[in-house]
Formats: sequence, structure tokens, C-alpha cells
Amino acid sequence: MGQLVQIAEPTHYTAYKPKPFTRQERDNVTILYGGLTWKHERVIQGAMHNLKYNAEPLPNINREDLDAGKELIDVGACCPTIFTTGSLVSFLKKEVAAHGKQEVKDKYVFLTAGACGPCRFGQYHESYSMALDGLGLRDFRMYLLAQDELDQGSGDGGGLEINLPLSLGLIWAILCSDVLTDLEYMTRPYEVNPGETDRVLNDCVEHLYNAFRERPHRGKKYKALAWHLMSDYFTSALRGVRKKWDTIEVDRLRVKAKVKVTGEFWLQTHEGEGNYNIKRWLESEESEVVPPPVAVWLHYLLHPAIRKLEHRHSAGKNDRMKDLLLQALERIYRRTYNRFRKALGNLPNELPDQLELLRLAEPYYHFELRGGEGHMLIGKVLHTYHHRKAHMVCELSPYSCMPNTMSIGSMANVIGKYPDLLYAPIEIKGDAEIHALSRCQMILTEAKKRAQADFDEALQKTGLTVERIRKYEARHPELKRATYRVPHHGYCGTAANYIMHLASDRRVAVN
Ligand code: SF4
Repeated sequence: MGQLVQIAEPTHYTAYKPKPFTRQERDNVTILYGGLTWKHERVIQGAMHNLKYNAEPLPNINREDLDAGKELIDVGACCPTIFTTGSLVSFLKKEVAAHGKQEVKDKYVFLTAGACGPCRFGQYHESYSMALDGLGLRDFRMYLLAQDELDQGSGDGGGLEINLPLSLGLIWAILCSDVLTDLEYMTRPYEVNPGETDRVLNDCVEHLYNAFRERPHRGKKYKALAWHLMSDYFTSALRGVRKKWDTIEVDRLRVKAKVKVTGEFWLQTHEGEGNYNIKRWLESEESEVVPPPVAVWLHYLLHPAIRKLEHRHSAGKNDRMKDLLLQALERIYRRTYNRFRKALGNLPNELPDQLELLRLAEPYYHFELRGGEGHMLIGKVLHTYHHRKAHMVCELSPYSCMPNTMSIGSMANVIGKYPDLLYAPIEIKGDAEIHALSRCQMILTEAKKRAQADFDEALQKTGLTVERIRKYEARHPELKRATYRVPHHGYCGTAANYIMHLASDRRVAVN
């Protein structure tokens, strides 16, 4: 008779579930968040303070966060997951060292965006929970802000209410920060007094922070929605920004290569060591960056539902109603963004038409291949090319990102059709800076030549000279203000469009 072998009781996997965050705790608990630029995060803080939450963005990501993340999450994670997890880990480690685990668990909760879908974005919270396990902080509380639900009600315990005033505050804060970011990038390369743009930018961010912190309360449901859509409260705050921006003096005759930055959502939005500070680096290399607004991503999120309804073979009454509702929502969204642009003298760029992006990408990438930025990566490159919005596109591709790998593969086909398109796909691992920047520099060299050629051609076409323009500017100082709008005259470069504008719209004489 053999002996009976005792099998140990298996330990089953249990998904992370945060403990409640109660209403009574609200005054003593700080909500941590992150993932956007410092400007977006500060203005969002205003919206959170307005609702009496203690809220604090995580410190801006640095190179050490990559190592901190790698130590604690799965090996196949994509680079943005590693960086963002590492950033939370570094913060918690420091706090634990200073105050102990219990105080950290009691004092902080973490709020992060969530989604479902084929890429790892839907799993970020799993990586965070894995890291919390590794830190011995399983009880640390983390909550998901679903991207497709503006009113999720109060979470377990009522400490955090994801309702319309909060969601609209966050979205409006993002849109206002986006238009401000556009202003920043179109101004800094041309500023006459070094550092002036950053100084005024800081002032403007604080101005918007205060506006969001003082936002009037107008109910919790439809009244709040109606007020956000109709009120001129935010446009008036942005007009204040414009007034401050007006003090910056620029020289638009500097020849700069215009570079549109696209890529994976987190990587393209980030400003810091997570993407080798590539936007600032491009500026140091005589370029003007066209930054990617977060608003384009939010706009994109509306579209799969619209397309799905359009592609139904037979639509019922409910589907048609839903379709009309979504179309109306989209129009309202664009109108809101355009109101904010208008408050800044229509200087910030328009949102691209999502349908146009889809049509441009269609021959190469199907819109239903979702994950990451889906078809938008190809759509944006072709949109930039056809509308002459920039001399080159720099696409930031995260190491180990499945959707991005697919779009870069499809881009080979696009480049075959448009051989003169300047496209630099840069793989970002976090620890291979020289390699990434030198790849970008190769394409940038050609972009700079094109910028110079644009400039020379514009001078030749108009018969103007730099000296002549300088004299004209001396008599018209408004031209040197950062808020002066130069319309697009068919060139990618700012300097070339400026010359064409002076000759055609302002009729500057040759002699
Ligand atoms: S798009 Fe790519 S990099 Fe971004 S979360 Fe998804 S898998 Fe990661």
C-alpha cells in the first residue's frame, strides 16, 4: 500500500480590490494622479481643489523611475507602463521611508485612467497592483477613472465621487491646457528674450489653476453640463491668458524646421525623461514642435461608437437615436474646443477631422484595429503631409508596444506611396537616448533643408528682403507680438508663411 501524499491547499489568484475610501476620510487623504504634462496636472489640480479634494500630481517622471518600474512589474511590459508604474513606486518608497507604511496607506489613494481594449493600457492598474504587492502595500488604495463614463457615481465609501462636476472639470482642464500648450510650442522657438515664454507660461498655468479652483458650482447633473457648455467663464479665463501672452516678443523670421510629434498616447504627451525630453531637444536643434493635444485622443474615443452604428446592416430606431446623439456630442465637443481656440485669437491648431483621419488611413490600416492610437497614427502622418502642417513627423514608439509596431509596419506601405514624406519613427526604451536622437537627427537634417528652401522661395516669390521686412516691423510692432496670428499660406514653415502673409495680406511693398 503506497502512502497518501498530502497536497497543499492551492492559493488562488485574487484580483486587486481597493478598500473603501470613505467620505469622512476625504479631508485627510490626498488623491495622487499623473500621466500628463505638468501644465495639465496643475490645472486639473485646480478642478479637484474646487471640489474640496486634496489632490497632488506625482512628481514628473525621471530616468530612475524606469529602473524602479522594471524591478517590480512583468518583463513584457511596454515602456509607458514601466515608467508610470515606476513613478508611483518611487513616490511611495520615499513616503514609506519618511513616514512608514501605515501612514502612507492611510494618507494617499491613487486615481488612474482605465480602459478596456487590446493593448496594455487596459491593464495598467494590474501592473500597479503587482508593484504594490512587491512593495508590501497591497492595502494601498487605487481607483479607476473609466474613460467612457462621465458619471460613475460615488465609489465604495463615498470618498471619491466620479460625477459630472468632476469629469467635466477634468475634461475642461485638459482642453484649456491643450490650447495653452499649443501657444507655448509655437512661441518659444521665436522668443526674442530667452526664457520669456516659460516665465509667462508659468504665470498662465497659475491663472488657469485659479480659474478652475474658483469654478462656480452649478448642480451635479444636467445643470452642471449646461453651464459648462454655455458659460463664458472659461473663455474669459483664456482671454486673460491671451493678455499675458501678448507681452512676449517674437522674431518669426528665424528659419525653423516644423516637426509634428505623434506616437503612442503617453509617450507623445509626456514632457521629460520618459521620452528623452525630445520636444525640448528638437527645439534646441532649430525646430518648432507641433505638440499632440490630449483633446485629439478624447475626440477619437467618441468615434468607434459612431462608426459601429454606421456599419450596422440594418439600424433600429434606437440605433438611429444613439447615432444622432453621438453626432451631436461630437459637434458640441468640437465647438467647445473651438471656443477655447477663439479666446486665444485662433492661434492654437484646429482638431483634425476624425473622419478625414479615418479615410486617409483606410487603405493602410483598418479603423477597427483598435489598441493604442489605432488608425490615427497613419491618419495623422498623412493629414500633416497633405495639409503641409509640418516638414516632418516624429513618431514616438514605445519599446514592446504591439499597436505601435503594427502601425509602423503599415507605414512602410505609406512611405512607398509617398517617398518624399519625412517620417522618423523613434523607438523609446527609456535607456537608449543617443540612438533614438541620432535617428531623429538624420531626418531632421533634411527637414531643415526644406525649411530653408521654403524661406528662400517665399522671399523670391514676393520680392521681399529680410532688411525690408525688418524696417516694416519697426513701424508695425504688433507683428512682433506672440499673439499676432499668421495665417497658413501653403508652406510648412512659419517664416515662409509669415513672408507670404506680409506680401499678400498686409501688402508690404518690395521697395
Ligand atoms: S499603446 Fe502600446 S505603449 Fe501604450 S499602453 Fe498600449 S501597449 Fe502600452
